[in-house]
Amino acid sequence: MDEAALRCGREAGSVVLLPVSKTFGEQAIREAVAAGERRFGENKAQEIREKFEPLSDCGIDWVMIGHLQTNKAKDIARMASEVQSLDRKDLAIALDRRLQQEGRAIDALVQVKTSSEPTKYGMDPAEVADFLRFLARDISTIRVRGLMTLAINESNDAAVRSCFRQLRELRDRLRDETIDGVSLDRLSMGMSGDFEIAIEEGSTEVRIGTAIFGARNYGSDYYWPENTKSGAKDAGDAE
Ligand SMILES: *Cc1c(COP(=O)(O)O)cnc(C)c1O
Repeated sequence: MDEAALRCGREAGSVVLLPVSKTFGEQAIREAVAAGERRFGENKAQEIREKFEPLSDCGIDWVMIGHLQTNKAKDIARMASEVQSLDRKDLAIALDRRLQQEGRAIDALVQVKTSSEPTKYGMDPAEVADFLRFLARDISTIRVRGLMTLAINESNDAAVRSCFRQLRELRDRLRDETIDGVSLDRLSMGMSGDFEIAIEEGSTEVRIGTAIFGARNYGSDYYWPENTKSGAKDAGDAE
């Protein structure tokens, strides 16, 4: 990360690392905590719920980075310190209601769709300005801090770079509109395979799973088992 930053005239240490612990169990996360990490990204509400209690002594800030169904808003309102996958109005409304019940507020990044891949979640870039105005006006429990994206999943560096550049340029345009109560300082972009390109394009935060924890046992559609608690805890440590 530092090498990538220095290469493009940014300072070493200027990009934040968000370790992504999805599918990895308690032991792997405790090792990362011992190495100094305190924030962890997860892409399923169910998985945060599974890890929350067993790791409650670690003082972890859980960051939701995956697609979030409105019926899981309650768990996130209770357990997450941040949501990076805020991508629609009904989710913001559901989160706000639950956050008010919990007496909490959370930081959020708006997830933007920058690739044409049909499977990618995220808001259409053209809708983001209106969404930010809606959040600033009607939602008191969600503090917008920036934008998040996933680049297109292919080996063509130019296509990947273009996704990251789109996000930065969108952020720069939105900043000119100065929406009260909305900060757009953070750009969460870059994963194990493309973080260097993301840093060159202005990422302030990279979300890294595989390069820290190793290959995952499960595909991206892996569904955290509802009923097998010990199985859930050991998943990912088993390899
Ligand atoms: C899994 C995941 C990552 C990390 O991916 P790696 O390629 O393992 O680094 C980053 N962002 C999101 C949204 C993810 O779901």
